Amino acid sequence: MKTLQAKSVVLLHHHLKALRLPTIGSECEKVAARCAADNHDHLTYLLEVTELELLERERRAAERRLKAARFPVSKSLDSFDFAARPSVNRALVAELARCEFIDRRENVLFVGNPGTGKTHLGIALAAAACAKGYRVRFHRVTELVTLLIEARDERTLLGLKARLAKLDLLVLDEFGYVPATKTGAELLFDVVSTAYERTSLMVTTNLPFDHWTEVLGSERLTGATLDRLTHRCQIIETKGESYRLRDAKARVRRPTTSDPRGQSGEAAAPDDRVEGGEGTL
Ligand code: ADP
Ligand code: MG
Repeated sequence: MKTLQAKSVVLLHHHLKALRLPTIGSECEKVAARCAADNHDHLTYLLEVTELELLERERRAAERRLKAARFPVSKSLDSFDFAARPSVNRALVAELARCEFIDRRENVLFVGNPGTGKTHLGIALAAAACAKGYRVRFHRVTELVTLLIEARDERTLLGLKARLAKLDLLVLDEFGYVPATKTGAELLFDVVSTAYERTSLMVTTNLPFDHWTEVLGSERLTGATLDRLTHRCQIIETKGESYRLRDAKARVRRPTTSDPRGQSGEAAAPDDRVEGGEGTL
């Protein structure tokens, strides 16, 4: 078989660069040697290198989507102990991980006390959506409200709203820890109302619905927000004791004899991040 001259190989790499096919560029010679050794034809070779390019492209895109989602920590469904939270319907969570609710523009609400795994499940499901190609963004509600107010003051609100409108799934974490100002509540309602039937929302909250007025201020606004949020929505209640507290208690019950100082340290900080408003547990 005639092989390509060295200077033609350089030219080939130029072409592949111009065509933005970096994986074919880095793999083509290795795959060519293998195909020659295995006596595979040109089309088999082409199929192999284009498959490699596609796979790598998908991997990089998933990585970019995960980064763009800005999750505060990484969580997965595999690391969620369903036995410790029997109120959570495992089959429903598995179904949500298939992300069909996003295609149907439905919402998901996690309601339960602090430390009961709402954010864990929210991040895990939203990360599954990233992996499947959906555009996702995670916001704590207080952070989003601050961003909205700043954007309104700087007259960049339309830009921020356009960015939110491009999403397939918007995660609003910790609704209800801090009461919103009148402006904040109105801007938040505007986000929920714009997302209605266009972008799926995933909300975590420690507040039962009849307390939402305390956060949003007006009954009219609360009614309208809940109406949009809960129409076509899966509600998952994470009932029971805080997982952090359980974890901490278990550690205290099983003290390590070698390092007595370690006991209190571990018990005081079983979590992987410090969360405002939850330190009272
Ligand atoms: P919430 O959002 O309800 O306040 P988090 O999801 O932040 O609670 O959970 C607090 C900590 O406990 C996190 O580190 C989380 O990963 C862990 N956790 C909570 N529930 C479980 C569970 N059922 N299995 C494994 N880890 C859990
Ligand atoms: Mg949380």
